[in-house]
Amino acid sequence: TIAKETREFQAETKQLLDLMIHSIYTNREIFLRELISNASDAIDKVRFESLTNHDLLEGNRDFEIFLIPDDTTNTLTISDNGMGMTANEVIDNIGTIAKSGTKAFLEKIKETGSVADTELIGQFGVGFYSAFMVAEKVTLLTRVPGHKGVKWESNGDGTYTIEECDKDTRGTTIILTLKKEYNSPDHPEENFTDRYILQNLVKKYSDYIRYPIKMNFVKEEKPKDPDGKIIEDAPAIKTTEVRILNSMMPLWAKNKNDITQDEYNQLYQNLFHDWENPLETIHSKVEGAVEYTTLLFIPAHAPFDLYQQEVTNGIRLYSKNVFIMENCQDLLPEYFRFVRGLVDSPDFSLNISRELLQHSQQLKLVGKNLEKSVLKTLENMLNKDRTKYEQFWKEYAQAIKTGVYADYSGRDKLKGLLLFSSSHSEGVSTLDEYISRMHENQKAIYYATGKDRAAVESLPQMELLKEKNIEVLYLFDRVDEFAIDALREYNGKKFQSISRGTLDIEEIANEDSQKNINQVAQENDTLINAIKEQLKGKVADVKISNRLKSSAVCLVSDDNGISISMEQILAEMNR
Ligand code: ADP
Ligand code: MG
Repeated sequence: TIAKETREFQAETKQLLDLMIHSIYTNREIFLRELISNASDAIDKVRFESLTNHDLLEGNRDFEIFLIPDDTTNTLTISDNGMGMTANEVIDNIGTIAKSGTKAFLEKIKETGSVADTELIGQFGVGFYSAFMVAEKVTLLTRVPGHKGVKWESNGDGTYTIEECDKDTRGTTIILTLKKEYNSPDHPEENFTDRYILQNLVKKYSDYIRYPIKMNFVKEEKPKDPDGKIIEDAPAIKTTEVRILNSMMPLWAKNKNDITQDEYNQLYQNLFHDWENPLETIHSKVEGAVEYTTLLFIPAHAPFDLYQQEVTNGIRLYSKNVFIMENCQDLLPEYFRFVRGLVDSPDFSLNISRELLQHSQQLKLVGKNLEKSVLKTLENMLNKDRTKYEQFWKEYAQAIKTGVYADYSGRDKLKGLLLFSSSHSEGVSTLDEYISRMHENQKAIYYATGKDRAAVESLPQMELLKEKNIEVLYLFDRVDEFAIDALREYNGKKFQSISRGTLDIEEIANEDSQKNINQVAQENDTLINAIKEQLKGKVADVKISNRLKSSAVCLVSDDNGISISMEQILAEMNR
């Protein structure tokens, strides 16, 4: 037996505790997530070891985590029936910092000598110590099956006490004596003896912990008479009801074949606060350099703020069912910002900071894979379910087109997904479809810009192309033209504006309308010179053209110059 002993924390631990207590870090509620996941780890351990040593269970295999808030004693107790710790384990695990991540972090702080700019602290590898963010005293009672109980206590200064104690039940009980501000109705959001706050925190951070997280809710009700009527003047009767706060089994951890679309829809609506079902669900499990499960959704409708500057990315991260963060930025490229979903990987560290996680190689790799799988899904949709794809296009065309012109790396991946109106039909076509309908010796993909179909079709330049039955893409959206300009060509076919430069369509289709332009030009030399004289300074050149059918003249832009509609956009922007 050991008598009560007071011990000093390891120097580094002291430092860490100091940072915890005076932390500038505001997200203090994560302490609960940390303690619950430790409890869950400890239950994992006893469950695993009991497979070969049944005595460890001591006849109790109803694994559970219990939360006991008590606002009269100012305490929040978190209790588990996991493996517990021996006295030596408590000293080793709780009194020292073994984790290299934390050590590295502390070294970095020493190096830079500043704490102010290291907001990371609360999220770093601090686990158990995060309790000191909200507690002025932490008491830990723990017992390993077959061993004596141990009591550990500290108020976060440089020392802790440790002594033997009696403990009936297996596992660990942690009693947090809360700092005043965390048990006060003045800070309702951070009142950690409030059952509803705790319930929400469990939902938010620990919903999918595999063991039940239980809490007692006390109900006060007046008794009823035999007819079921409430007896008003009788004293209220208190009944305690144990509720399980978490749903335990994450949907995404189940086998795909055991999940209904309805279940996916429920989860999607709950997590992403949408009242509609998603347009598409992507669920996959990946094993490789990084192991992860992902569940992605394409919402049926683009959120109204999708194209605004400050858009939140809808990807949540989990590690072994434990929530780490939402809105993980940079996981998917900007042009897939409409995708909602989650990634769960045992390779993500729970305690890592946002910034560090953002730069982690694992996350980069996962991001690359997610992008690929979204691309593949869209390609499949385009090929197999055109109606659905066009629905997608109606909502997210802007994002894809912007990806083509604004993101160099996205260009090639996205170009096959583009849809355009064209002279072929009232519907929309992909570039591949356009190419499949091209004349045999047609070298370019022709396009025209205008505000709508009628406007484009009345362009004088359309006449000849129409007559020759050459298909023209109609660009109604400014971003269409930006995208086409960025692409320059598709599968070796140049994009050619019908109102820019020479059209070179003589060799395409039947040649009966071909004329010797040079000869006509010579014959009309005086006329052309007169027109040039009149328009001096307003146009660059006046030429005889073969592109007109019934109109007398048309304006075209130079091959190298900007297009007419681009000029209009620029003029508008300057206004
Ligand atoms: P981590 O969980 O990343 O190891 P923590 O600071 O959260 O770091 O916990 C440190 C160690 O303390 C754990 O690895 C574990 O050995 C021990 N520990 C913490 N909480 C419990 C618990 N409820 N039951 C048993 N052991 C625990
Ligand atoms: Mg931990």
